[in-house]
Amino acid sequence: MIITDTHTHLYSEEFDQDRDEMIQRAIKAGVSRFFIPAIDSQTTEAMYALEASYPDAIFLMAGLHPTYVKEDYQVQLAHVEKQLSGRKFYAVGEIGIDLYWDKTHLPQQQDAFRKQIQLAKQYKLPIVIHCREAFDEVFEILEEQKGPDLFGIFHCFTGTHEQALQAISYNMKLGIGGVVTFKNGKIDQFLGQIAIEHIVLETDAPYLAPVPFRGKRNESSYLSNIIEKLAVIYKISEEEIAEITTQNSKVIFGI
Ligand SMILES: [Zn+2]
Repeated sequence: MIITDTHTHLYSEEFDQDRDEMIQRAIKAGVSRFFIPAIDSQTTEAMYALEASYPDAIFLMAGLHPTYVKEDYQVQLAHVEKQLSGRKFYAVGEIGIDLYWDKTHLPQQQDAFRKQIQLAKQYKLPIVIHCREAFDEVFEILEEQKGPDLFGIFHCFTGTHEQALQAISYNMKLGIGGVVTFKNGKIDQFLGQIAIEHIVLETDAPYLAPVPFRGKRNESSYLSNIIEKLAVIYKISEEEIAEITTQNSKVIFGI
């Protein structure tokens, strides 16, 4: 069984004490492909170090997270551009719009999102979207950028059935993680009506741990709890959930 975690921040300092043990636990649980989203230029070195330790399992993205779009965002975008021009990455992410923490930089977030979508198109890469309390704003930009060269993952999808279909219409797969196990997570209500070809698995570790670890530090081995829930929703075996969602991740990342 090959399980793919399409979104995990394994370089996070929350794993500094036990990173290798944590990654070994994941590998033991069948998780052998880890796609690593960037935050900003501060995380670059730690991401490269992680890749050097696990070159066959770690796949890096380059990007500027919307929560880190500040006055200096042009400098940050130049860093992303320089990274993309220098070596192989598997996606531009995580990028998007986040109006939960702070609305003051919305125009800058929109500009950074657009520019990074254009970079993804230039390098023929998928995008990995972070969207928090900003569905209208994200969809507005996807609508203007849509086309065969726009594709990727709607990370940590938490919207409605209608919003799920809209995301899929822009060639996005839905990143499904801990939220699907939450009592009030809502997406479990309609997910069974979304074809499984549109789903990929993610933890967003160290955040958003699934039940029964909700509120604790998340890690990639906990994907087994998410697979368990999806097997119930889709009424197929856990092995099939793992196999199909890994195949879906290969369609997006090209590996
Ligand atoms: Zn993330």
